[in-house]
Amino acid sequence: MHLLYPQICFGCGTDQIEKDMPLCPKCIQNLPLTDFFSINENPIEKIFWGRADIQNAGALLFFTKDSLVQTLITQLKYHHNKKVGILFGRLMGEAIAAEEKYKQVDIIIPIPISASKINSRGFNQSEVIAIGMQQVLNKPIISDGLIKRSWSNSQTKKNRKARLQQLPDLFFLQKPTTIEGKHILLVDDVLTTGATLEAAVASLMTGSPASVSIAAAAYTL
Ligand SMILES: [Zn+2]
Repeated sequence: MHLLYPQICFGCGTDQIEKDMPLCPKCIQNLPLTDFFSINENPIEKIFWGRADIQNAGALLFFTKDSLVQTLITQLKYHHNKKVGILFGRLMGEAIAAEEKYKQVDIIIPIPISASKINSRGFNQSEVIAIGMQQVLNKPIISDGLIKRSWSNSQTKKNRKARLQQLPDLFFLQKPTTIEGKHILLVDDVLTTGATLEAAVASLMTGSPASVSIAAAAYTL
């Protein structure tokens, strides 16, 4: 592990960083926080107006091209760097723990990735973020309830419009009883159009949860 990830800050390159941290304290402090978790009717919540029945929603960071946040997300998704996911999760957990409106959350559910992606990537990046959140929020993670279907080859070749029309079937709820009556916090890595989360919320609703809130690590501007 040490050979793959030298112990230097991804932001400024200093080796003065704490163990298991991808960034130095100064670069953590300079991350582009949205503060959305504390803002009612924030841009993330507005994305879902009329599309999904969401209790609360927010994102931790602004995601812009060629930024440190993009580097970190790439590290998490494609370089197996779990430290990034844990850090994002802990920061999100701290932001959420400070908000009264998130106090009722019972369970954390990471957005699943397909079985084929888990095989090639080794882990679900949203689940790593959820583990970081759990370290702060102390809530159980349910990661085997919501399942993402794998696209067959023929489906992959379909154009974007055809695939979007299939989005409502993107996920299915394997164990509805595990979420019945529960206040769910649904966790994703990067939120762009909200289409994936919208499909996930639709599947969760078939299990009659008390509410669904959304937390994403980053929001694409
Ligand atoms: Zn730094």
